This record gives sequence, C-alpha cells and structure tokens, in this order.
Amino acid sequence: MTINSSEQIKRVLVVGGGTAGWLSACHLAKKLASSSPAGVQVTLVESENIPTIGVGEGTVPAIRESLRYLGISETEFVRECDATFKQGIKFANWARSPDIFGSDYYHHVFDYPDSGSGDLTPYWLQNSNGRSYVDAVSVQGAICDRGLGPKDMTVPEYEGIVSYAYHLDAAKFARLLTRHGVDKLGVRHVLADVQRVNCDESGDISSVTTAAGETLEADLFVDCTGFASLLIGQSLGVEFIDKRHILFADYALAAQLPYSDANAPIPSFTISTAQESGWIWDIGLSERRGTGYVYSSAHTDHDQAESVFRRYLGDDDGNLSVRKIPMRVGHRETYWQNNCVAIGLSQGFVEPLEATGILVYDATARMLAEIFPASRSVMPIAAKQFNRAVQYAWDRVIDFIKLHYCISQRRDHPFWVDNCDASSIPDTLQEKLQLWKAQPPSVYEFPSKLEIFNLANYQYVLYGMGFDTNIGTQLSGRYPMMSDAIDRMTDISSYASRLLGSLPEHRTLVEKIKKYGLQKI
Ligand SMILES: Cc1cc2nc3c(=O)[nH]c(=O)nc-3n(C[C@H](O)[C@H](O)[C@H](O)COP(=O)(O)OP(=O)(O)OC[C@H]3O[C@@H](n4cnc5c(N)ncnc54)[C@H](O)[C@@H]3O)c2cc1C
Repeated sequence: MTINSSEQIKRVLVVGGGTAGWLSACHLAKKLASSSPAGVQVTLVESENIPTIGVGEGTVPAIRESLRYLGISETEFVRECDATFKQGIKFANWARSPDIFGSDYYHHVFDYPDSGSGDLTPYWLQNSNGRSYVDAVSVQGAICDRGLGPKDMTVPEYEGIVSYAYHLDAAKFARLLTRHGVDKLGVRHVLADVQRVNCDESGDISSVTTAAGETLEADLFVDCTGFASLLIGQSLGVEFIDKRHILFADYALAAQLPYSDANAPIPSFTISTAQESGWIWDIGLSERRGTGYVYSSAHTDHDQAESVFRRYLGDDDGNLSVRKIPMRVGHRETYWQNNCVAIGLSQGFVEPLEATGILVYDATARMLAEIFPASRSVMPIAAKQFNRAVQYAWDRVIDFIKLHYCISQRRDHPFWVDNCDASSIPDTLQEKLQLWKAQPPSVYEFPSKLEIFNLANYQYVLYGMGFDTNIGTQLSGRYPMMSDAIDRMTDISSYASRLLGSLPEHRTLVEKIKKYGLQKI
C-alpha cells in the first residue's frame, strides 16, 4: 500500500535537550532516520537559557541495552560521563528506626535471585539459617559489601559477571548523547527558545515559534521540556494528575562534593539512607559524589530539611552549596495527545528512589520509535496503545515506590506514620500485600512484558525489609525440596567467596577502563 505524501509523518520535532530529549531524539533517529527511502527527519530544539534539571545520576540495567543499541561504546561512555558501576541500592535505616533499634541495611541488587531449580524464597522463609535474603539467593550483596566491581577487564563491553547499571554525570551524559545523535544518527540540532506553540483547527500542533522569530514545523512533536511541560501541558491543556497523596516527597536538596581523598573507595551501589521525612541519596561518580535529600514539605520545613542534609554531609558550618529542587509528583492524564507525545519530566515523575526517571523515559522513547505510526490516519491508534502502556508503567512504578515506605516499621516521625495509613496506599498494592502475608509472591503476578519492576525487585525489597510472609504448616507441604534448597544456598555462598577473590576493586576497575578501555563487543 502506498501512503500519500500528506499522510506521511516525515518530520519529528523534539523540544527540550535534557536526558529525555536526547534519548528520545537518538531512539527516533536510530530507528526511523534511514528506515525508508526518505526516512524521518528528527530535529531537536533546546534553549541555551533554560537549564536542564541537572540531576538524575542513577540508572537501572536496561540502560546498558539502550546504549549498546544506540551504538555508543561503553568505554567512551565511562570516560565521558564520569560513570561508575551501580549494582543496586543499599537501603540503610529503612526497616526500623535507628534511634531505637540501631542502624540496619539491606541490598536491592540487580542480579536476579538464583532460580536454577525453582524459587528459593519459600525455603529461605522457613529456614534462613542466619543468612540475609540477598545473601541466600544471590552473590551480589557480598560483592557490593566488599566494594568490588561487577566485571573484570577481560569481560567485553556491556557484559558483566553480575548484572549492573551506572552512576553518571547527567550534564555530561546529555552532551555525549548530543554528539552521538548529531554526528552518528543524523539528528538536526537547533539552539533556540521556543516562545509560542501554534495549533491548527483540528487541535494538532503545526509548528513552534522561537524567540528569534523562526518557525519550526513538524508532523509529530515530542515534549521534553521538563517540568514546564510547554507543549502537552501548557499548550494542549492535558491535565496533570497529582500523586502526592501516595508519594509524599515533593522537594529535593542536592549537593555535589569532592572525595575526601583521590583514592577513596567508590561504592558500586547507590546508598539510600532513610531520614525523618524522606531519604538521602549518595552516589559515587569517578570524579565526585552526588548527594541529595528527598523530603516531604508537608512533614518538615525547608530549614529543618537542610540541617538534616548538612548533618549527613558533615557540613554543619554550611560551606557546601546546596540546591533546592521542587518536584512535581504525578503524571499527565494522557501522554500522547493529538500529534504531541510527552517524554521525560513533562510526562510524569515520582521521587528518584529506584531511578525510575531515566528508566521510564528511555523505555517510552524506544516504544515511540517502535510503534511510530506509518501514517497520520493510524496515529490515534498508536497513541491509544502508547497511552495504555505508559499508564500501566506509571501505576506499577507508584506501587513499587510506595512499597518501600508502607512496609517499614518506622514510626518515629509523622512522615513514616502517614505512609502506613491505608488511605495513602493504592488498592492494587494493598491487595498484593494481603496476599503476600499469606503466601510468597509468584512470577504469575507479573505477567506483562511491560513490567517495570518484576518479581525479583519485589522479593529483594519485601524480604530485605523483613516483611513477614507466614508459611505456616499448611503451606510447607507445597515446598518439599528443603534439603536441595539448603544445598543451593550453600553453593551460592561458595560461588560468592570465589568471586570475592577474583573481582577487582571498583575504583581500580573504573580507572583501568578509563586508561586502557574495554574489549569491544
Ligand atoms: C531530585 C531529582 C533526582 C533525580 N534522580 C534521578 C535518578 O537518580 N535517576 C533517574 O533515572 N532519574 C532521576 N531524576 C529524573 C531525571 O532528572 C530525569 O530523568 C532527566 O533528567 C530527564 O529530564 P528531562 O530531560 O525531562 O528535563 P530537563 O532536564 O529539565 O530538560 C528540559 C529541557 O527542555 C528545554 N526547554 C524547556 N523549555 C524550553 C523552551 N521554552 N524552549 C526550548 N527549550 C526548552 C531546556 O532547555 C532543557 O533542555 C531525578 C529528578 C529529580 C528532580
């Protein structure tokens, strides 16, 4: 079938050049720029005067697949983005109040629990043998505790002995994507402030006008203007659905700081330390640390939040420069309206506890490229599918982030008390928790290909936090392989000991990659 030329979608304009804008432009150009004789022309316009949000340093393993797909070398990425390896998140003081019970922590790691001959979880629940959940089912908690990297120099780019993602410098990452998008993928780059969004009589966007008076026309527009949401929110009037009644944290204080000494170990995981009204992230890049206090302004005031943050940083004298960032918590009512698609903070955002920002924006940018409509007449159908999938993703993200709060036993501050109030917990999550008190979660509860978080993620958080699944005598008969399971847990410990003897120290690994490079795939 030939598509008449007025029906074709030949020009895409991405507005905004933060992480989301450049990921979107790269995915679209990679998939579409040379997919037909004429291809699709992808243009990105960004302002030099409106800064990007400048945070967003933690990722999840899916980013590896995207970087590889886009054709970016891992060595180049590590060198240019000050990147380090992230093997998961260490959650400190989340389960109980440290003032009453002392400090504790657990790891939510990226390697899936060993499932060689079935899920070990029900066996661990009955007989943990003094092992933490993560140590019973995976080697990665031990690797993190020992400060080791996820691979050695003999392992090719993007491969790992255990799974991993990265910590990265957000501004440097956007610069790398810019160069790659323009030089390798053919993205046209325009520096200009968009001042007006022009719509035709059907309500579609026809063009945008820049401060210099230039008109940029396109068939499809991607709104990557950050929290401003200039196209889908301000111009098309798509409503923002506020989710602060579920996830209370609506502000962040962020600070960058140098290492105390140039050889200081770099943790190969994000450290998330719970505080009275939120939590502090602590991320080690190769050249500096990035930290921030994410908190609920309904439960503390900004001065108190700043003093909690400075105390954590050991900066009681107030020497470090701290930036206050308001966060819009929630998502749009629809994500693809008329001929405008929102990706990035303009689409939705919840606090960065599990690094869901880049994850969802990258996944939805790729989805847009994959289901890119062949013609204008089928655009509403593609939009409907996209909206359904993105809504599913945000609902699941919100459930998973809320899980961290609502199963905590902390009751030392109204923030933690309110988080356990049933009225703040989505019904979907309440139902799951009720089931998991009586029986362990199963893979069949995560059936969609579009699950953002799956069984493993829930298991690590539930049992890291000490969630009580009661496998009473009536259930124990369902799990007859106890001695096998104990043997497997012992094998996992032995394998962990071998890896501890062979994997390199994390900082050493990063420095070697910067110096010598990894083998290309
Ligand atoms: C406190 C905090 C911590 C975070 N931590 C993480 C994390 O660890 N992991 C993670 O995955 N995500 C994290 N995020 C989310 C992360 O910031 C985003 O994933 C990412 O930066 C994408 O932002 P963006 O590109 O949508 O918007 P921005 O970075 O704000 O970029 C907006 C772009 O739009 C342009 N623009 C705006 N208006 C105009 C206009 N009128 N004309 C032209 N251009 C315009 C700007 O110039 C800019 O280029 C965090 C967010 C916050 C708030």
